[in-house]
Amino acid sequence: MAATTQNGGKVATTEEDRRKVFGLAARDSSGVLSPFHFYNRKNGEDDVTIKILYCGICHSDLHQVKNEWKNTVYPSLPGHEIVGLVTEVGNNVGKFKIGDKVGVGCLVGSCHSCENCIQNQENYCSKLILTYNSIDTDGTITYGGYSDKIVVNQHFVVKLPENLAMDKVAPLLCAGITVYNSMKSLGLNEAGKHLGVVGLGGLGHIAVKFGKAFGMKVTVISSSMKKREEAIKQLGADDFLISSDPQHMQGAIGTMDGIINTVSAKHNLVPLIALLKTKGKLAMVGAPEHPLELHVAPLLFGGKTITGSLIGGMKDTQEMIDFAGEHNITAEIELIGADYVTNEAMKRLAKADVRYRFVIDIGNTLYSVEQLG
Ligand code: NAP
Ligand code: ZN
Ligand code: ZN
Repeated sequence: MAATTQNGGKVATTEEDRRKVFGLAARDSSGVLSPFHFYNRKNGEDDVTIKILYCGICHSDLHQVKNEWKNTVYPSLPGHEIVGLVTEVGNNVGKFKIGDKVGVGCLVGSCHSCENCIQNQENYCSKLILTYNSIDTDGTITYGGYSDKIVVNQHFVVKLPENLAMDKVAPLLCAGITVYNSMKSLGLNEAGKHLGVVGLGGLGHIAVKFGKAFGMKVTVISSSMKKREEAIKQLGADDFLISSDPQHMQGAIGTMDGIINTVSAKHNLVPLIALLKTKGKLAMVGAPEHPLELHVAPLLFGGKTITGSLIGGMKDTQEMIDFAGEHNITAEIELIGADYVTNEAMKRLAKADVRYRFVIDIGNTLYSVEQLG
């Protein structure tokens, strides 16, 4: 028995197919999150159940809860930077055991048989199931990591390196793989090349760290001076430009092999294209809600490319996490309690006022807000 939701998905309703879960969900586009009880499927043969300890807050969560991409199904329970401990494994699960430290990113399902899936690019599968706001294999709506537990097919679970702090690893599951994959596909992982990183937020600051670990020269292009000192002293960037200052940008024209653009809102691409060398590439990973204007001439002169990139496949996600483990790379985070999520966090994220990722301490604080529901 299942009830139908507005996008044709189902919500599990029988005792046999459900498992009680608690989390924080948005009920409308106000951006406010509040306590929400729901049901997950029970652990299947190929599934792993994870007790969630930490979950990062990606700007995509904010776009989604505010329905900025016009596809949100409410209640919407975000969170796709999930880390926790395995509490149950199905009979077919060989890769994980109870107690393992694991992570789940943006993907929880794909078809496993299309060209993209076969080439380990599940992120581009047309039947891709996202961690939240998607329809799961059993027809239910997926709910994300701002919750106490999640059931995930083992293929979409990665092992975490023992040497990294779990709270600081969480953002790698989306922000980390997104920038790692786009950098790798554009050849922006080679020592000596010059990488530009536009927008120093959750994605951007990890791109700086990966860029330095690959041995590149890294220049941050930011909307103000505010993050300059941290970018250089704390994150290791070599240079820092202010996008709105033409004089400042002038000195870097034609110097970059590639740029990772993480900006979450409408902005001008022309000054960024100008920073590229001949044949340079600009990867769009930010997903502004409004269309950007594209002036073609700056692309023609210099044979430049603008491309897009969406998160990454599971093989690359494990590779990225292992690379982070080897190079001791984690996110800079503000660890927050569940109560902060229900009021301040989304407002501050909207103003780019986070250093550099909010991570929710689910394990220690989630139940403290249960009585608010
Ligand atoms: P974030 O932490 O909010 O960082 C975005 C940064 O963009 C801000 O810190 C700010 O950097 C800059 N920015 C914001 N508004 C701006 C404006 N109006 N003009 C110029 N710069 C502005 O967000 P995030 O979590 O890194 O995510 C960034 C974007 O990537 C979002 O749109 C998100 O949905 C998208 N995303 C895409 C993928 C993918 O697979 N492609 C995966 C994850 C996220 P400064 O302060 O330095 O200017
Ligand atoms: Zn994300
Ligand atoms: Zn597929």
